[in-house]
Amino acid sequence: MTPKHFFSRILNGLVGLLSGEIVFRLITRRVICIVVYHDVTKTPYPFSQRHNLNVPPALFETQIGFIKHYFTIISPQQLVDGGYATPAALITFDDGFAGFFDNALPILERLHCPSLLCLNMAPVAGEVFWSGLLAYLYDTDKKFIEYLTASRGRQVDSFLQCTPEDVAGYLASGWVDREKVDQMARHYYGPFATHEHLARIEQGFGVALGNHSYRHYNAVTLSPEALQREYWENEQALAQYSNKIEIFSYPFGQPDTCLNTETHRVLRNAGARVLLYSSGGVMWRTKGSLWNRIGMSEQITDEKKFRRMIVRSILIQPLKGFIRFLSGPR
Ligand SMILES: [Zn+2]
Repeated sequence: MTPKHFFSRILNGLVGLLSGEIVFRLITRRVICIVVYHDVTKTPYPFSQRHNLNVPPALFETQIGFIKHYFTIISPQQLVDGGYATPAALITFDDGFAGFFDNALPILERLHCPSLLCLNMAPVAGEVFWSGLLAYLYDTDKKFIEYLTASRGRQVDSFLQCTPEDVAGYLASGWVDREKVDQMARHYYGPFATHEHLARIEQGFGVALGNHSYRHYNAVTLSPEALQREYWENEQALAQYSNKIEIFSYPFGQPDTCLNTETHRVLRNAGARVLLYSSGGVMWRTKGSLWNRIGMSEQITDEKKFRRMIVRSILIQPLKGFIRFLSGPR
């Protein structure tokens, strides 16, 4: 047995021991659990399917049911203000898939659940959704990978390392038909939020609008000035809606690769009161300006799996922090 297998068996054993209902309630009584969703639809597009970003509506309703069973659901404003009772949960959505409005929102309304929708306003204004375009190129276009390798002089291991210049350079290179790529990318990721959607939910739906940057670029790949611009451009576009809130969720959300102390500084100076990332964890305090989230997926089909996911994250988090500490300051 390798050390990795050994560790994973110990971890699974512990998760099993601690995820019974009574113990689970005990260990999560001071927890704030911020869940993140993307699309909610019966008919996901290839982008959501490939990146496990969709939860079908019936399962979404079941999941909200078991989140409510263990946690009190708070509003985005309560997260900003602090001082609520635990165990608490906040329901968040990133990107602005049309499925949020068509399928998730009627369920949230019926169950009286407030939520946070973090938007990139470029696609709302009609631009291509950059992250969907990048994923389309990275997942399906061999020539894009060749272009990246040639322009960098080495292989790129993850699409998270791709910069706006990489994509723009490829589209301007003459290697591809730009308009066709744009069209194919839109078919890859599917329909998005419109101004009509946003006007409809401005009042009375319990939805606050957060900032997810204007174009969904990876914050770490941008200069401080460019990151500030991405934040501000989005703030300005969101400002026409009275349900906007000063919460920023990091595009892609992975610690170190997509956020660091420098990006926190730039965004806080630009006006963000709360920063959200997504490293699959829950939190233990009720005030602060940097919060982790845990992604919900269609694999979480029952309460037991939900409890196991939370317990696993609680056990793994200190280890991730320790590894980050060992790898030095960033
Ligand atoms: Zn996103």
